[in-house]
Amino acid sequence: MRIAMIGTGYVGLVSGVCLADFGHEVVCVDKNADKVARLKKGEVPIFEPGLDRLMAQNTEAGRLAFTESLTEAMEGAQAIFIAVGTPSRRGDGHADLSYVYAAAKEIAENASDYVVIVTKSTVPIGTNREVKRVVAEANPDLDFDVASNPEFLREGAAIDDFMRPDRVVVGVESDRAADIMSEIYRPLYLRDFPIVTTDLESAEMIKYAANAFLATKITFINEVAALCERTGANVKEVARGIGLDNRIGNKFLHAGPGYGGSCFPKDTNALARIGQDHSMPMRIVETVIDLNERIKTRMIDKIIDLAGGSVSGKTIAILGVTFKPNTDDMRDAPSLTIVPALVGRGAKVRVVDPQGRHEGEALLPAVDWHEDAYAAADGAEILVMLTEWNEFRALDLPRIAGSMTNPRMADLRNVYPAADVLGAGFEAYIGVGTKDHL
Ligand code: NAD
Repeated sequence: MRIAMIGTGYVGLVSGVCLADFGHEVVCVDKNADKVARLKKGEVPIFEPGLDRLMAQNTEAGRLAFTESLTEAMEGAQAIFIAVGTPSRRGDGHADLSYVYAAAKEIAENASDYVVIVTKSTVPIGTNREVKRVVAEANPDLDFDVASNPEFLREGAAIDDFMRPDRVVVGVESDRAADIMSEIYRPLYLRDFPIVTTDLESAEMIKYAANAFLATKITFINEVAALCERTGANVKEVARGIGLDNRIGNKFLHAGPGYGGSCFPKDTNALARIGQDHSMPMRIVETVIDLNERIKTRMIDKIIDLAGGSVSGKTIAILGVTFKPNTDDMRDAPSLTIVPALVGRGAKVRVVDPQGRHEGEALLPAVDWHEDAYAAADGAEILVMLTEWNEFRALDLPRIAGSMTNPRMADLRNVYPAADVLGAGFEAYIGVGTKDHL
């Protein structure tokens, strides 16, 4: 089947490449000329493990192409995916749908034969119906259907998530659209991955409910962690103890500096707004949003405590600034709150991140970037583990401690046991939800 993919960001590019790998002919289109030029040369503009190889294979096989022209991308396409950004609208938390509706209008202006317009972007309940209205208004003679097909991939594991999903969710209104969507996902259907076919509104709601639930789970363990610190319990033991209960499950129970990234913050905010707009406030979600902000402040206070009450004039080395490992995405990363707060209190901050520098340099002014953890730690007083990249998980701790001045570690991801850190020569260690060793 011929497919057009509008938007070549984290979701559009991965989806386009993977759908080509399923055997479809995919043309990806983006308005960003720079991105398209790089993609045409075979360069992957984002960091996503395995994507470069899969993109090269499918481009060589003639199933994958890139263009700036929607007309070109839509030629002969039976399905057109909208995978453009839906960021938080400035000020009110609503999802900004202007890119989605602009794409819908462009599709309408370029289409003449039957197509299914598939929204992959995360959009509030009712958006697909509005897409339908926008398209019908712009091109009243067009025969088309809309489908909601929210995406659940995680950055850093995106290809595996797309190829081996827990489920695919498809919201449709007609059998014809349902058949086309089944054809698109046939390789998954044949391998018994569950396909949830439902109505448009339920599909839209599933995406928000899933992300809000996961953000709640993270926030729950973070709140338990804070109480563990006051009571002497160890959140790692608690998480293991509750996570072994199948009804709870062990995922998303790692205490840390709060959730971030391109999805949880904006999607929880959007769901809260949707609730308010329907006079049905989502109280749990609203509390989660508030708590997640406070957790970041709590982390700043912990670092200040570790520094003996003030970070002014102290040199702090930060390991990892992306919102999680294996991505270069800095959107709403906890580092964007924590690092400026330390700089603002007079600390000299050094930063190291395997992939975050390109995006991070503009977002984190007044810090010194270093190439590796050893260079960043040399002469520093405090080492902060902020994003648990693999290369920070097996550091030569005695070497690091030996190069620091009065070495102290704030392990905000609970990567290292306190005993190992102290045994390596650090003078103090704090984790999250564990006993502090000050
Ligand atoms: P992104 O900002 O990385 O990419 C969006 C791309 O769309 C950009 O390259 C932009 O130039 C392009 N674009 C915008 N309007 C266009 C138009 N009219 N024509 C052509 N190109 C256009 O966004 P993303 O992270 O890929 O997210 C896309 C959607 O998927 C969002 O709704 C997001 O919530 C959702 N989502 C994201 C993730 C994730 O992990 N990033 C996971 C699941 C769902």
